[in-house]
Amino acid sequence: ATDATSAAGVATANTSPGTADGARGLVEHWIAGSPTPGSSTRRGPVWNPATGERQAEVVLGSRADVDLAVQTAAKAFESWREVSVTRRAKILFAFRELVDRHVDDLARIVTAEHGKVLSDARGEVLRGLEVVEFACGIPQLLKGEFSDQVSTGVDAYSFRQPLGVVAGITPFNFPVMVPMWMHPIAIACGNAFVLKPSERDPSASRLVAELWQQAGLPDGVFNVVNGDKEAVDGLLEHPDVAAVSFVGSTPIAKYVHETATRTGKRVQALGGAKNHAVVLPDADLDFAADHITAAGYGSAGQRCMAISAVVTVGSAGDTLVEKLRQRAIDVRVGVGTDDSAEMGPVVTDQARERIVAAIQNGQSEGAALVVDGRGLRVEGHESGFFVGPSLLDKVTPAMRVYQDEIFGPVLVVLRADTLAEAIEIVNANPFGNGTAIFTGSGEAARTFQRKVTVGMIGINVPIPVPMAFYSFGGWKDSLFGDRHVHGPEGVGFYTRAKAVTSRWPHVEGLSDAAFHFPSSG
Ligand code: NAD
Repeated sequence: ATDATSAAGVATANTSPGTADGARGLVEHWIAGSPTPGSSTRRGPVWNPATGERQAEVVLGSRADVDLAVQTAAKAFESWREVSVTRRAKILFAFRELVDRHVDDLARIVTAEHGKVLSDARGEVLRGLEVVEFACGIPQLLKGEFSDQVSTGVDAYSFRQPLGVVAGITPFNFPVMVPMWMHPIAIACGNAFVLKPSERDPSASRLVAELWQQAGLPDGVFNVVNGDKEAVDGLLEHPDVAAVSFVGSTPIAKYVHETATRTGKRVQALGGAKNHAVVLPDADLDFAADHITAAGYGSAGQRCMAISAVVTVGSAGDTLVEKLRQRAIDVRVGVGTDDSAEMGPVVTDQARERIVAAIQNGQSEGAALVVDGRGLRVEGHESGFFVGPSLLDKVTPAMRVYQDEIFGPVLVVLRADTLAEAIEIVNANPFGNGTAIFTGSGEAARTFQRKVTVGMIGINVPIPVPMAFYSFGGWKDSLFGDRHVHGPEGVGFYTRAKAVTSRWPHVEGLSDAAFHFPSSG
């Protein structure tokens, strides 16, 4: 392992993210502690969304590449599982220090390939770091239970053990944070990890792999296989993968859940979202408009917890829409490295076209297009994948622009007469990731939090992403499987329990073996 500065240097030299001359690099796998192109000859483009240039290529792994990574991880697991929990925690602490030192390096790579503004990319790395910090407490988190004298001379206790090789398959929109929801906890629990990051922004995972190595993690415990469906299918069907954590769109989450559970794996598959902000007339409407604007257009709307639908209640409607309109046109759109920009481009030209078509559809369906971001051009970056903030009013649940996850800077507004009606709208939506209520009434907020069929709820908080020591996950079509990620449920997901009933025969007063089912006493 080299020093911390050279790790960033290696990652940038090999992958050229964001280089001014657009020189192309090749983003390789990371297996057994070294980069490797693997056996596949397939390659995918890595775009610079701010310029529209193809800035690098990523190796699209084959099943043989996946098999090599899994076999490597399986071998590493045999010794990693024997490493004491305190030693594992020390490596986690070292990793924590290294990630902390490299926040800006990681953020720059994210901005170069994803497009989000640097301050937002830093925020994502810091939220990932919080999960690493949570995982540093693994000795405490893995403490089992013990019951003395459950029968005469008999004790009962439980403890948790790692699963083996576990896989993480992650989306483009948080290339550092979402994998960090998974690998720090999985590794701290004693598992070996194979990450299949998004092929659209794969380079950050390379630097993360180098930081693990510098932290003292034995080679083979953390591996990265780049690729697309072929690599994913290789992981889902591999007999030596014990569990799969997936985050991405709903159709793929469903597919991952069905495929991997069929081969007996433990699966948590987080899907897409349509997150509603319900605004009551008693809310501070300026506060609500400020926060909904930031939550709707931040990261160009490409967050699974972005607010994408606003439900106004009663008299809040017209006033709020006017405030949202003013704020939407004031959002500063620019390249991610421009310090004054609040919102960057979307990830690919294909995404841009899909978003533009969704706005057009909404208008054709009868929605009122209050702010149209389709024509936006950023000076000097005319080929970048930009769409400006857009606002559609008078949207109904029957419209496609409401039903589909647009995953772009588009806010749709629906009108309800009462809180009960607003809750019905939220609950009728098949997604159930996050939702927020803006109100001055504790009673209304309490009713809302109890009645909505959504996993994460904000009260005057637009993006209620749980802290690392809680668990993150939605309901309904936003999560397939029964365990949320990180926090206590993350530890539960990456371990399985043993319960031991123990007696030592030399203890006096033991009764003889009996044929009836043993009971206490
Ligand atoms: P995606 O579903 O296209 O891709 C996610 C992962 O699945 C990637 O690694 C990709 O390579 C792989 N994949 C894509 N198509 C596949 C196929 N046909 N078969 C097998 N694997 C395939 O998602 P994305 O566009 O990268 O990310 C955006 C989506 O992720 C949005 O829907 C967003 O809501 C969702 N998301 C959800 C959460 C959450 O916590 N619920 C968090 C972040 C993102």
